[in-house]
Amino acid sequence: MPLHKGPQKHQERPMSVNPFFGEANPVAGMAEAPPTHRLPDGPLPPSTAYQLVHDELMLDGNARLNLATFVTTWMEPQAGILMAECDDKNMIDKDEYPRTAELERRCVAMLADLWNAPDPASTIGCSTTGSSEACMLAGMALKRRWTKRNTDRYPGGARPNLIMGINVQVCWEKFCNFWEVEPRFVPMEGDRYHLDPQAAADLCDENTIGVVAILGSTFDGSYEPVADLCAALDALQERTGIDVPVHVDGASGAMVAPFLDEDLVWDFRLPRVASINTSGHKYGLVYPGVGWALWRDKESLPEELVFRVNYLGGDMPTFALNFSRPGAQVVAQYYTFLRLGRDGYRAVQQASRDVATGLAERIEALGDFRLLTRGDELPVFAFTTADHVTAYDVFDVSRRLRENGWLVPAYTFPANREDLSVLRVVCRNGFSKDLADLFVEDLSRLLPGLRRQPHPLTHDKDAATSFHH
Ligand SMILES: *Cc1c(COP(=O)(O)O)cnc(C)c1O
Repeated sequence: MPLHKGPQKHQERPMSVNPFFGEANPVAGMAEAPPTHRLPDGPLPPSTAYQLVHDELMLDGNARLNLATFVTTWMEPQAGILMAECDDKNMIDKDEYPRTAELERRCVAMLADLWNAPDPASTIGCSTTGSSEACMLAGMALKRRWTKRNTDRYPGGARPNLIMGINVQVCWEKFCNFWEVEPRFVPMEGDRYHLDPQAAADLCDENTIGVVAILGSTFDGSYEPVADLCAALDALQERTGIDVPVHVDGASGAMVAPFLDEDLVWDFRLPRVASINTSGHKYGLVYPGVGWALWRDKESLPEELVFRVNYLGGDMPTFALNFSRPGAQVVAQYYTFLRLGRDGYRAVQQASRDVATGLAERIEALGDFRLLTRGDELPVFAFTTADHVTAYDVFDVSRRLRENGWLVPAYTFPANREDLSVLRVVCRNGFSKDLADLFVEDLSRLLPGLRRQPHPLTHDKDAATSFHH
């Protein structure tokens, strides 16, 4: 979250609140609007407070037209009702809300099955606030396992490291910073925009706590080659004896691949995969606030990291960074699992993939753009301007699309492809074929104006884009 400052020097706001807002007697409306920089002196009627907050929020972007986010922007009304019914439940109070706790347990069991855990009964997992927390937990487990194997060398000098592609989501940089682990990045190279298995294995040494594989990359929607990575690490172990576990960051893909790419082996079927996370609030199809982390067996999650809370007279193991947390999202996850089943998820994700691949093709056909990916792994694709396009760049396109209400981020790739800037479209449930048609219409309408520009117009590329990968 941004770190905010205290109040600047403010003037009291002179204009009055519309006296019509919820006042039984509008004539007695307030004389002054409440201050926004300090706690108001007195209360407001609920209807007035509601209207003030509601009206200010009208200026937020339209979430459904936000093609930048991976996070769910539409759920069924029934899910909304269930969530409202659970607003008052604290996920940590397992004893007070045993049924909510049970629904969480069932979700973990369903995911263990979905991700082909060899022995679902001994697989352990938990809900989190999202993939970031899940990744922190998985990273901590990797680090603690390494520490236990290396008590003689740590903390006496040996510094643990974690290997990953330069395209990792920022939560992994945070993990390394917060938990004092050295990040080792595999750079991009030519047309390879994610981790290379051999390059990752080459970076490993006796201080490596694990390798992170991303399914799929937030930069371009591509899946990283998890099976090939495991094979490269098998070979490394054979050669050197160094045994490096793999964590799969399946924030998006762990809820796409099991339904659309059943032949792709990326999950617990690979013995080297120790843990997997996903964001329930991405392709898990739940509103923001839920993620999942699973470990293949008890050995993968050192017991001393586990915290016990009271549960029906006994105790229940928990693993989390925070304590109190809403139960509504977990309930909504269970609802969605129950509601869709495998076939339902397959249909929904296939629809998103169809929209993504169709839209990518139509953008390619416009002639001004070159696709980096085609939306056939995650329903996400990245594209850049074709070589002959010199009058405008991807930042101009992003800015002009925004004038039409479409939020499409433009950003520059990391090492070694800093020369490459792209636009990215994330197709989610609710971004229908109709909306995609309207998007192409708007984009085509902008092209003549863009082509007439004397040169690209965006000067401050960092300020031009809202991309947070
Ligand atoms: C979104 C994402 C994250 C962070 O997940 P949150 O659920 O937003 O906390 C981590 N890794 C990848 C690959 C992601 O796509």
